[in-house]
Amino acid sequence: MTEPPCPFCAIVAGELPATVVHRGERVVAFRDLNPKAPTHVLVVPAAHHPDVAALAAADAATLAELVAVGARIAAAEAPQAAGSYRLVFNSGAQAGQSVFHAHGHVLAGRELGWPPG
Ligand code: AMP
Repeated sequence: MTEPPCPFCAIVAGELPATVVHRGERVVAFRDLNPKAPTHVLVVPAAHHPDVAALAAADAATLAELVAVGARIAAAEAPQAAGSYRLVFNSGAQAGQSVFHAHGHVLAGRELGWPPG
């Protein structure tokens, strides 16, 4: 059976439109189509890894870069939050992961409740 095409690989390749806010060799960030906060950016490795644990195991340096890029985006977009933001990696369908290309959600710009649903 053929795997369905990965939408985030297509965004990284420039084959699927997205509002890209950061493009590096190893990490790309773009706005979520269905934002849950004033800032809702997805930060992804350019290479395909199915989830954050797989990315950490295969390429810890890229995961560290992804975290740093997310922090920079939050600081630039929500300076009023004094550095507060949430970086979420849903891992597995039961935890809400719907796209199986590792991605961190950067959420900022409003009060964020805890725990998430
Ligand atoms: P998750 O449910 O944690 O796997 O997150 C996937 C996220 O990707 C959701 O918040 C979707 O709104 C978002 N999403 C899906 N397709 C696209 C796309 N083509 N461009 C931007 N965001 C997308």
